[in-house]
Amino acid sequence: MTTQPEPPANPIGVHALVFVAGWSPEEAEYAVRSTADAGFDLLEIPLLDPTSVDGPATADLLRRHGLRAACSLGLSFDTDISSEDPAVVAAGERLLHDALEVTRTVGSRYLSGVIFSAMGKYTRPASAKGRANSAAVLRELARTAARDNIIVGLEAVNRYETNLVNTVADALAHIDAIGEDNVVVHLDTYHANIEEGDLARPVRLAGDRLGYVHVGESHRGYLGSGTVDFPTFFRALVTAGYAGPITFESFSSAVVSEEFAAALGVWRNLWDDGADLARHARAYVADQLLAAQRLSSS
Ligand code: MN
Repeated sequence: MTTQPEPPANPIGVHALVFVAGWSPEEAEYAVRSTADAGFDLLEIPLLDPTSVDGPATADLLRRHGLRAACSLGLSFDTDISSEDPAVVAAGERLLHDALEVTRTVGSRYLSGVIFSAMGKYTRPASAKGRANSAAVLRELARTAARDNIIVGLEAVNRYETNLVNTVADALAHIDAIGEDNVVVHLDTYHANIEEGDLARPVRLAGDRLGYVHVGESHRGYLGSGTVDFPTFFRALVTAGYAGPITFESFSSAVVSEEFAAALGVWRNLWDDGADLARHARAYVADQLLAAQRLSSS
């Protein structure tokens, strides 16, 4: 009998909005406990309002439950660092540095998301000046983050949620413009399913600059109940030797705030029971990784 190789050891994560809409002490406790109960290694904490997150208390909660964390946010049009208005860019820069400070105190190694522009529908393409503003702010953010070994991720999202980074190729171009080693590609299957030709090529293209992954279904509901080609995606991750986090993301109007729902177009319930959804997602990701690895080693 031959011995099977160990399954891939990627940290498997879940986005806190599967469980809670905000980060009050009660919500934090519930999200951390639910994440640990469902068997995850990592919890992604949204920093839409960094001042609402008690970093040290959150770090303590995570430690008690043996969890790692990632932090994420999307900018708004009032804090859009790809704006040509210096006051708006400055507001975005302040928000990002506040978010970085919370990331540090929470003890997370990742700050990611739609942090290069507003997260919303633009009515015109990004301008050269706007791109340069965004790159300049992120260069400084990355340099500050590097002091605490924090990785900054640019999440490629679909055309209705930004005009600046829709694909992995866009993310790599912006990373080149930023020019800092600790800026990585954050690939999300929900968005890639809309913007990329398939789900293997973006993984190959990102190569060792892939630093964070979101798995989401085509309708952002239960994994495997939509049209995302997960077998191809997981095979590509395993072939590429990707060892970073894989975080499940799903939004339902049953949990998220009205404001957040409006920003992302979450108009209907894909599910009511976050705990059931999370348990299923944890098993789905682990099974896909295992199957991809067994194929690659056969
Ligand atoms: Mn995402």
